Amino acid sequence: MLSTMQDVPLTVTRLLMHGSTIHGTSQVTTWTGEAEPHRRSFAEIGARTAQLAHALHDDLGVRDDERVATLMWNNAEHVEAYFAIPSMGAVLHTLNLRLPPEQLAWIVNHAADRVVLVNGSLLPLLAPLLPHLAPIEHVVVSGPGDRSLLDGASVQVHEYEELLAGKPTSYDWPEIDERQAAAMCYTSGTTGDPKGVVYSHRSIYLHSMQVNMAQSMGLTDRDTSLIVVPQFHVNAWGLPHGVFMTGVNMLMPDRFLQPAPLAEMIEREQPTHAAAVPTIWQGLLGELQQNPRDISCMKQVTIGGSACPPALMEAFDKLGATVCHAWGMTETSPLGTIARPPAHVVGTEEEMAYRLTQGRFPAGVEARLVGPAGEHLPWDGKSAGELEVRGPWIAGSYYGGAAGENFKPEDKFSEDGWLKTGDVGVISADGFLTLTDRAKDVIKSGGEWISSVDLENALMAHPEVAEAAVVAVPDKKWGERPLATVVLKEGATTDFAQLKEFLATKIAKWQLPERWSIVEAVPKTSVGKFDKKVIRRQYAEGDLE
Ligand code: ADP
Repeated sequence: MLSTMQDVPLTVTRLLMHGSTIHGTSQVTTWTGEAEPHRRSFAEIGARTAQLAHALHDDLGVRDDERVATLMWNNAEHVEAYFAIPSMGAVLHTLNLRLPPEQLAWIVNHAADRVVLVNGSLLPLLAPLLPHLAPIEHVVVSGPGDRSLLDGASVQVHEYEELLAGKPTSYDWPEIDERQAAAMCYTSGTTGDPKGVVYSHRSIYLHSMQVNMAQSMGLTDRDTSLIVVPQFHVNAWGLPHGVFMTGVNMLMPDRFLQPAPLAEMIEREQPTHAAAVPTIWQGLLGELQQNPRDISCMKQVTIGGSACPPALMEAFDKLGATVCHAWGMTETSPLGTIARPPAHVVGTEEEMAYRLTQGRFPAGVEARLVGPAGEHLPWDGKSAGELEVRGPWIAGSYYGGAAGENFKPEDKFSEDGWLKTGDVGVISADGFLTLTDRAKDVIKSGGEWISSVDLENALMAHPEVAEAAVVAVPDKKWGERPLATVVLKEGATTDFAQLKEFLATKIAKWQLPERWSIVEAVPKTSVGKFDKKVIRRQYAEGDLE
């Protein structure tokens, strides 16, 4: 028997309509590097979203499910693109501006983007690439930047503000099937070609509800969220969509992602929440140690993307900003777990242990652990296996393979359709996930596994260590052994022997690294994570030690 309920599609358009009316006075504040940031209300964003949709449809001929790319920082215009493109039925394709140029070109060609919206400050990246971006016909530029870089390019160049000027401030949004594509994002291609994940209107809507749950980020219109995680990194973890549901004010850093302007933004605009990967927060911490500022306005700092070192969490706690750890992937929209300790441990000694896990699965994300022989492992906090997940905001395939069809590589999807995350960990009886490593980063030493993350966390707890990354390197006797690369703080006097002694107080003796290297900086991926592939290559080429 069918239900008697209305079948109203869950669409991005509905998020837009809700946010720009019910929460019309909430604000998007974009940092400009000048005396005053730029402020725009959700109502204004709504009107300009309609204008942008008219411009894309009437002037640039965007139709049906065409892909419209963005090469943009986090700012108000990017939020407008977030809502205009899916709401008119087209597909928003956020480009990762930190990818190597040849990978960016591969992605644009694969997605067949015909239009790209770009921030003027990114023209030095886009202009030389254009001859390799065959499908691009229109480039729409917003914000400061040297337009002459586009002189002679065989594309039509438009000014964003000129396109919008005079267009109607409402749009007859089409009713869209909620399973239609709304946005797409490519994984960064650490192994093989990048893979396109295509989010549906429905998956975005449901994920937004999850973002807003009290046991998740739980923000309201009394909050301001500093969204440092880029809009090209898994839809800024779902925040721009989520906040249109609840009217949370957005503070957007644009291109000012260095520790000093971030610290200034926090002090001046007083966000109550912020989200970014650990390396951003490490940088901010260093800055605050040099130039102290009050950041206690931040009641909640969401950290994810890689494991949050305990020392980082403790340091922020001391500054009055509470860290909340979360895990996810491009394929999981991304919210997969979030570490809010259960009520019975709050205020007890156990609370910290829960906060340091990757977190608890929300309703909507089913999880299982799979052992080496394909067996399902118990949730006992001890049995380690590969994490597999499924749910309405989890990818079930990737966009267009060689034959143009969506595809499901065997190493990424189980036969019964679950996503194989490539992450190894344990789950406690009460549903908290603790990751020990990525399957490809775990150190396989003489038949035993060593967690690179455990070694890194222990090292980063040393007062003279700024950052530490540990990778597996080949070893004749043991197969693999850990190599520790360490960035020391300014003025540090410690040496390898002392660091090893320090580690020995926390880590089993057989796991301690024999190989050490002091480096100036740990190489980072395009989304700011430790790039272990590069460290392994540097070691293989004899560039370390
Ligand atoms: P990339 O593969 O380029 O890093 P993603 O952002 O999709 O792109 O990365 C997802 C992966 O990041 C996860 O599979 C996991 O290995 C890692 N990750 C994300 N959040 C955490 C976390 N809180 N702790 C440990 N690892 C994490």
